[in-house]
Amino acid sequence: MILMQGKGVSKGVVKGPIYFYQRIQAAAAQTAASDIEEEKRRLEEAKEKSMDQLNALADKAREEAGDEAAMLFETHAMFVEDEDFVDCMNTVLDEEHCSAERAVEIAGEQFSAMLVAMDDAYMQARAADIKDVARRILNNLLGVTEGGIDSDEPVILAADDLAPSETLQLDKSKILGFITQGGSGNSHTAILARTMGIPAICGMGEALKPELNGRMAYIDGETGQAAIEPDEITLTAFQAKLEKQQEMKTLMETMKGQEDVTLDGRHMMVYCNIGSPEDVAAVHNNDGQGIGLFRSEFLYLAADDYPTEEEQFQAYKTVAAAMDGKRVVIRTLDIGADKQVGYFDLQKEENPALGVRAIRICLNRPEVFRTQLRALYRASAYGKVAIMFPMITSVWEVKECKRACQKVMAELDAEGIPYNRDTEVGIMIETPASVFVAEELAKEVDFFSVGTNDLTQYTLACDRQANDLGKFFDPHHPAVLRALKMATDAAHKAGIWIGICGELGADLTLLETFLAIGIDELSVSPSSVLPLRAEIRKSIAKTCTLEKLSC
Ligand code: PEP
Ligand code: MG
Repeated sequence: MILMQGKGVSKGVVKGPIYFYQRIQAAAAQTAASDIEEEKRRLEEAKEKSMDQLNALADKAREEAGDEAAMLFETHAMFVEDEDFVDCMNTVLDEEHCSAERAVEIAGEQFSAMLVAMDDAYMQARAADIKDVARRILNNLLGVTEGGIDSDEPVILAADDLAPSETLQLDKSKILGFITQGGSGNSHTAILARTMGIPAICGMGEALKPELNGRMAYIDGETGQAAIEPDEITLTAFQAKLEKQQEMKTLMETMKGQEDVTLDGRHMMVYCNIGSPEDVAAVHNNDGQGIGLFRSEFLYLAADDYPTEEEQFQAYKTVAAAMDGKRVVIRTLDIGADKQVGYFDLQKEENPALGVRAIRICLNRPEVFRTQLRALYRASAYGKVAIMFPMITSVWEVKECKRACQKVMAELDAEGIPYNRDTEVGIMIETPASVFVAEELAKEVDFFSVGTNDLTQYTLACDRQANDLGKFFDPHHPAVLRALKMATDAAHKAGIWIGICGELGADLTLLETFLAIGIDELSVSPSSVLPLRAEIRKSIAKTCTLEKLSC
């Protein structure tokens, strides 16, 4: 038996084989070759395989999402056979006497650099496509299924770390749990695992080795413990946990259909955080009363190019309609920092969490913002959509966002496209600056939602991605809780509602404090809804205290 200890970041116990995530190691492609004709033959074979894959993907996309969706894969297929690209790969082979892998890498880099240098935004955007095509050919040469899970049975996915974009591209039906060497509980990968209700442990360190691939393991996403091929005693303990988990699930079923109200009649809105339209099923299964945070950037992260207005409209409309009149708060694009999207070509920054991210990108790129706002307003005709802006620090930013909304509404009016003119507009409170000017901000918007993940990071000067800050990263710090109170007082003074959509909202040990502060809404991962409801229904709001706000 091997026992490993990490940090539990998404609750739940599961049993399954370990499967190591396959990612291309650049070093694997650096080898020289002696038989160039053989390398050319291998290259030809990998190209053919890539063509077959892309044609199949185009057919699937056409069937599921129409011609426009299929076009991306058709363009990629054209690149595989592009004469100049193929010539470039063959010339590199002849001149450098290197492996086919290296030739693909070099040709991919040269071609994408050439496209980026062009004076045409469309051609510049194709650089990401050529990189993608080169990666596909490379994968086929190396015989790896990057991001794919080459297993018939569901697995516990192991990796050094996973970027949010990698996590999004995985086939969730094949994943029982995640375990990673690095990572942190506040990373977006951990958040995604919680949203999907998949148990996860991060920070396993070097003990998690690729040699463990295929071995049977139990993991506990609450305690952070993993046991590989456990001995009798450990096995019995894990089996008992699995049984308890099942009992708890049955008990929680009884919470469905119940109101989110304390014993003394205080109502709390309990909503869900989602990352894609597919997550709505989990919202319904857990009886969520609305959606308090739809992280729209995951649509951008999962795509190879800017999602069009139509693609976004379809996604937002699907969620709005499926929620059948219940509130759906959709946050505008929040990329940057750990959420990097290749085709945005964001500048490399020393401190990306303090750089051009979230609303700053939208205000700097009005066309990108306009496309999203048009899609959001169009979707507002199909349900109770609310629009929320992330990472606000100043009143002028909110005024500029609202002007962009007005402009889009005027366009839709002129085009005769239906939308809800009274769509609520709100902001996230996730910077200390927004707390300090909350009274002024509250006069501009319909609601606040506190992003405690970033608010904790910026208030305590602790990187949310780092896994070694230990007790210094303390979301229970009185400074964070007082910030919550200040924002709540400002919201209520202006007569607007305030919620929490950061991970702290699901922290049952703080429910009393939230009730005492006067928080109106908690938006949590779908699997946290019923346990939270059970706790609310046991609470007495008028006896709750602000004790935790003291140092
Ligand atoms: C937050 O910062 O708390 C939040 C909800 O936004 P995100 O985690 O996506 O940054
Ligand atoms: Mg945030």
